Amino acid sequence: MLLIDSHTHIYGEEFDEDRDAMLQRAAEAGVGQMVLPNVDAESYPRLLELCVAYPQRLFPTIGLHPTYVKEDYDTQLRAMEGELTERTHVAIGEIGLDYYWDTTYQKEQIDAFKRQLHWAAQYDLPVILHIREAFADAFSVLREVNLPQLRGVFHSFTGTEEELREALSFEHFYIGINGVVTFKNSTLKEYVSSIPLDRLVLETDAPYLAPVPKRGKRNEPAFLPHTASFVASCYQLTDDTLIAKTSENARRLFALPEY
Ligand SMILES: [Zn+2]
Repeated sequence: MLLIDSHTHIYGEEFDEDRDAMLQRAAEAGVGQMVLPNVDAESYPRLLELCVAYPQRLFPTIGLHPTYVKEDYDTQLRAMEGELTERTHVAIGEIGLDYYWDTTYQKEQIDAFKRQLHWAAQYDLPVILHIREAFADAFSVLREVNLPQLRGVFHSFTGTEEELREALSFEHFYIGINGVVTFKNSTLKEYVSSIPLDRLVLETDAPYLAPVPKRGKRNEPAFLPHTASFVASCYQLTDDTLIAKTSENARRLFALPEY
């Protein structure tokens, strides 16, 4: 069974020099398909172009990342809304709240988040959530919008055990785990296995957060097996079992074709 990288920014300029070789390495490492989360209006054309070049392996999403919510967010959202009707996307993302980098646009972040959650309901798509230092507000927005069919993933989950429990209370949501779980100083490894196996997906979040033993390097999809192995050991499962389960979950969530 091939791995699915459920969150990777390989359309970024970090890969301009070796993109095809990097995709080849991913294939050799057993990583089949990948979901490419958008961040803003500028990243979108590049992301789309790459997905068009690899239609069986790479899948586009559309959304405005909370860190990119600035004065012009309304214009950006309107442009994206137009694209939504133009072509197929596998998710709305990445969207959410990020108070870690900047809280200047907190109100705007919340507004953008709500509007995009409604897109997901309207177009019957899952959401990719980016929540950083903002779980309390994010949970209350998710409850407030009251969209019972809403489904998605808490991507790059690095919250506390308490936050994990609350995230899991949103019953149509998965938890996305990446290289952070392998870091020596991360406590996530102590409770990662409390995520029910049918709600776990794996991701790189490349080019960021490379797993041990690649920590500090530019991350890429070919490094995903390190995270898979580490998480499998937390669950006391074989790599193959963990990979089969998480790939099945990602395929179900994003409705990816067989590969
Ligand atoms: Zn991301």
